[in-house]
Amino acid sequence: MPHLALTHGHMDHAGGVASYLGQRKLLRLGPTTIYAAEDLLPSIQSVVEIWERVQGNPYEVKYQAVRPGEYQELDGKLLLRPYPSVHSIPALGYTLCRTARKLKPEYKDLSGPEIASRRRAGDEVSDPHIEHLVTFTGDSTIEGLLNDPIARSARVIISECSFYGDEDADPALRTNVQHAHAGRHTHIDDIIGNLDQFGCETLVLMHLSRKHTPEEAFAALESRLPAAWKDKVLLFHHGNRAI
Ligand SMILES: [Zn+2]
Repeated sequence: MPHLALTHGHMDHAGGVASYLGQRKLLRLGPTTIYAAEDLLPSIQSVVEIWERVQGNPYEVKYQAVRPGEYQELDGKLLLRPYPSVHSIPALGYTLCRTARKLKPEYKDLSGPEIASRRRAGDEVSDPHIEHLVTFTGDSTIEGLLNDPIARSARVIISECSFYGDEDADPALRTNVQHAHAGRHTHIDDIIGNLDQFGCETLVLMHLSRKHTPEEAFAALESRLPAAWKDKVLLFHHGNRAI
């Protein structure tokens, strides 16, 4: 079953829920579980129910309220961990995790066959372990990641980075670092200044403001990223969003 985790209630993040559910119903793709903070979920449910009445047809949907730090079990070994983001309205980020077994330190110098033989003899050779695979920040200042060691330890971090304007940028565009922080968003200065906090293999930057072309963002990344990060940072955008 698909899992749809909402970060917050702004239109550009939650406004498509009913449309998404409608498309799944139309194409007979089966039910979806929607996760959202307990304060937000009833409003989302109301919006969906209004569209069910408008369409005269119920959607296939389940609702699950979440709280920061409390893991939700998804399918199989996957877990979803919400954490607090820092935005202009209450917001969450999420870390997708996987349960695994980790070899106990006292067995780490043994060969594979030796470990197998200990296991057959009934030894518990591993401990349960949670891997932090992917973090998605939603909309947030950089403090969302900086405040949460688990979120920023993920192997892949998908972080918002909305603004790239420098001090010479036209003030009317409101794209510099002060403007980003006033709207509780992340600026490229925040990313560059905190790279040493991230141990991730890949950092995906998203939520590029429509005030920037992708080319502007690519140029800023090319000129500002340290060499060690150039191959690890990706920019996710939706074509020329200045249109
Ligand atoms: Zn927002």
